[in-house]
Amino acid sequence: MSGRVMIVDPVSTNRIVLKVRLLVARYEVVPCVDFAEALGRLDDEKPDLILVEASQLDAGFADFCSELRRGHRQLEIPVLGLGQFADSSARLAALAAGAVDILPKPFCDALLLAMIRGLLRSRDEARAALISDETRSALGFAESCAGFEPAGSVAIVCDDELSGQRFGQLLNGLRAGQAITMTPTEALELRGKAIPDLFVLDARATPARSTGEAVYQLIADLRSRTETRNAAQLVILPAGAATMAAMALDLGASATAFSDEAPEEMVLRSRTLLARKAKQDRMRDTLRSGLEAAVTDPLTGLYNRRYAMSHLAGLAERAVETGRNLAVMVLDIDHFKRINDTYGHVSGDQVLIGVADILRRNLRAIDLVARIGGEEFLIAMPEASAEAARAAAERLRQKIAMSDFGSTDAGALKVTLSVGIALGTADQVVGGRSGIEDLIQSADTALYRSKAAGRNIVTLGQTAA
Ligand code: GH3
Ligand code: MG
Ligand code: MG
Repeated sequence: MSGRVMIVDPVSTNRIVLKVRLLVARYEVVPCVDFAEALGRLDDEKPDLILVEASQLDAGFADFCSELRRGHRQLEIPVLGLGQFADSSARLAALAAGAVDILPKPFCDALLLAMIRGLLRSRDEARAALISDETRSALGFAESCAGFEPAGSVAIVCDDELSGQRFGQLLNGLRAGQAITMTPTEALELRGKAIPDLFVLDARATPARSTGEAVYQLIADLRSRTETRNAAQLVILPAGAATMAAMALDLGASATAFSDEAPEEMVLRSRTLLARKAKQDRMRDTLRSGLEAAVTDPLTGLYNRRYAMSHLAGLAERAVETGRNLAVMVLDIDHFKRINDTYGHVSGDQVLIGVADILRRNLRAIDLVARIGGEEFLIAMPEASAEAARAAAERLRQKIAMSDFGSTDAGALKVTLSVGIALGTADQVVGGRSGIEDLIQSADTALYRSKAAGRNIVTLGQTAA
């Protein structure tokens, strides 16, 4: 994995040693003497990660972190502290100021590199969601509400009750009701709403000579299951088990901590991980709702014309590959203007929603239904014969005609629709976009004939020319 790592260390020999280690691991390295230099080079160098020597972590570190957040608000650059602290309160202060983790010196290279890999991995994931955040604002959607951090829920995963109790201080440090304990088996059986935002995996009791197999398996299982893959993982290991920590990070742990760390530190780390998880969740939601909004019609929830056209292109390609037909229908509500004029636009909207619902519920899962105009819908049916398409259209026509779409002074609100069908065969849809347009044009012509013949009629047009 490649990445750009900035080093902030006032001692030149330290910088050189670290630089060599990182170069060997194929990272690009940007050495800086102090925070002022680092901030000055940030925009040009665009590092993915910053390593800060511990001696720097009290001198203006909090200001540096807030400066980082200001300049690069959307995608925070993770800062990893390296070195020894005089006391644990200084360490806590550094974590509270914004360091994602602190690796005491002398550190093992394997652990440092695993930490770097883990941080770069989550930054890549965040970056993927960020592109869509931009797309989202380009599409005119509101910005996501930055700064709001929900409390988040925590599950402490340990083998026995006693070990769970030893997390008393972690539990006390978190908000009441925020954390529960469970066994590894229970963690793997969680479903739906019960999934916590953070798993604290207790592997402190792992014997020194053990391979750590059980906890590795649990980390990998939680990461690979759909339900739990997005939850953060904090793995608590026996003091000094650096190799295990490196392995845990590579398998997908979000962070590791050692059993000799102060309980306050664990609380702090948990909070950081929860905040990061909340931010990632927000980005994912933004992506999902942005994509959804881009392809759906807000009134009926059906796909919109833009999506229908690109989906049809894919269906046409598949029709050519399989040599099977592709049926396209255009459906238009009859005298819809009268509904609006007589009962008002709101009633008209109710009719559109009701018609969309009937169309959606009466087709196969592989069929596409889209609203392509005011009261005009398009249905694409892959692998449908002329008879099957006509039967489906007839069924829809009848269902609509028999349904009530509200009540009026004169009784139930009724509508009918007219349908035009065109059938594309493999060789006729081969022309890509123009083939698709010809097919829709044929369906439109057939629809026009249904209208001319008196409405509430299905017409099967000639196959696309
Ligand atoms: P025809 O049987 O020939 O199709 O007649 P029609 O009245 O259905 O067709 P026309 O194209 O004359 O009118 C369509 C009407 O649909 C006009 C427009 O105001 C209305 N319309 C378009 N979009 C919406 C919408 O989102 N909500 C509502 N309530 N009406 C809409
Ligand atoms: Mg109409
Ligand atoms: Mg129309």
